[in-house]
Amino acid sequence: MSETISARTTRLVRGAGWSRRTAALRHVWTIDGLVECSGCGLFQRMPALEPGHLASCARCQQTLEWRRRTSPLQTPLAFCISSCALYLAALASSLMTLDVYGRERTVSLLTGPMELLHEGWGEAGLLVGIVTIVAPAIVIGMMFAILYAASRRQMPDWAPHLLIWYEKLRPWSMVEVYVLGIFVAYTKLTDLAHVDVGPAVYLIAALMLTMAATDSTLDTELIWQHRRVESITRMENGERVRVRHVRIDEIDMPPVDHLVACPACGLVGELSRPVSNLQCVGMCPRCDHRVWRRAPQALARPTAFLISAVICYFPANLLPVMTFFKIGGGGGHTIIEGAIELWQDGMVPLSLLVFFASIVVPMLKILSLGWMLIATWRGSSFALVQRTRLFHVVDIIGRWSMIDVFMVSILVAVVRFNSLANVTANAGMVSFAAVVVLTLFAAWSFDPRLMWDAAGQNRPAPGGGQASAVVRTRDGHAVAETEMMEPGQA
Ligand SMILES: [Zn+2]
Ligand SMILES: [Zn+2]
Repeated sequence: MSETISARTTRLVRGAGWSRRTAALRHVWTIDGLVECSGCGLFQRMPALEPGHLASCARCQQTLEWRRRTSPLQTPLAFCISSCALYLAALASSLMTLDVYGRERTVSLLTGPMELLHEGWGEAGLLVGIVTIVAPAIVIGMMFAILYAASRRQMPDWAPHLLIWYEKLRPWSMVEVYVLGIFVAYTKLTDLAHVDVGPAVYLIAALMLTMAATDSTLDTELIWQHRRVESITRMENGERVRVRHVRIDEIDMPPVDHLVACPACGLVGELSRPVSNLQCVGMCPRCDHRVWRRAPQALARPTAFLISAVICYFPANLLPVMTFFKIGGGGGHTIIEGAIELWQDGMVPLSLLVFFASIVVPMLKILSLGWMLIATWRGSSFALVQRTRLFHVVDIIGRWSMIDVFMVSILVAVVRFNSLANVTANAGMVSFAAVVVLTLFAAWSFDPRLMWDAAGQNRPAPGGGQASAVVRTRDGHAVAETEMMEPGQA
């Protein structure tokens, strides 16, 4: 009953009337309508989705695809044009003006990173400059190019690479975190002097919204479907093989150890032999990315990043992040002292926010990733669904710890009144920025599917059935099987 790859090849070869010589050429199959969950590694059938429908994994409930109701190209393009205008305007206008005893100082977005550079904290200045100025510009520019490529009838060959890089670089644009950093800095400054908020603050807040809107209306899955799949591809050993297409509803579920999904575009391929988790199998015929079941050193790399983060965690919390000099007082502040000071000044919500973002989040990240890595090394199957969800949360909230680094960069830029009032950055800030960046790298290099592999959940099951993604509407209503458009009808 189960149609194997060799039976399918024989049928195709007979049907096409090829010679024996052609039949000897190896084939790989790409399977439409089959997806691999990036959270748990389950291969499952994906029905064609209608606008407003959302498909989630049958095993770990992670969202697999979400078809937007808005226009797939025009809506993100409109938000992207707005982002571009807001970005340029924010760069050209002033962020804040501080007035201390009649002496004024106005700063822009660029001043913070420049002052850190001047003070000798080059790494931190560079980091702030990259995530608040360089990365947003690159991300907006790339989005324009991607939308242009997707609007063409034949998607150009550079477009897939751009889309892959967009997804890698997007988390480095931290405009939304910077907005909160400005807010915390403003609250600290009103204590000291008269502060005028410049137009750049409102422009950045609007930029945060338009960039989020671009991402939430962009349907990368639809863009990938628009890209043609090449008919010949290269294997890892340089051998060229033919690519054939089949729909999952035309065949029985292939053995899962023969299946591999492209890590960049998600295209599922079936090989004639079992694929090991460790080796690269070849190039993706759709996006030309190297294809492997799990990334190389998928456990060693996050472990190394995490250990480095733990080492930096102690100086980050024990050393002062900044020193505040003012007439009649001042001194060094560690991160926890900063949060306590806000509390004592009556800014309870803000103090809780700083405490949560700077103390709880880094600790939560280190502890959860540590738990996940140890559980994976040990092959534990305890709380797999919860661990996968926790990983998702850790992955999303990690960037918010940058609030303190941004706040220091703004204070250093704006409070420069020599003997009257002055803020300088300290070594604690560099260690803290290192903890944030190292835990971000640890989370990005960790593959949650490894937890399921280690627990033996992704092994081929005897007579293993075919799971199907769970489809519901955006507001949570279940979509009945009959209501769904069957693949092929779309
Ligand atoms: Zn899953
Ligand atoms: Zn691909």
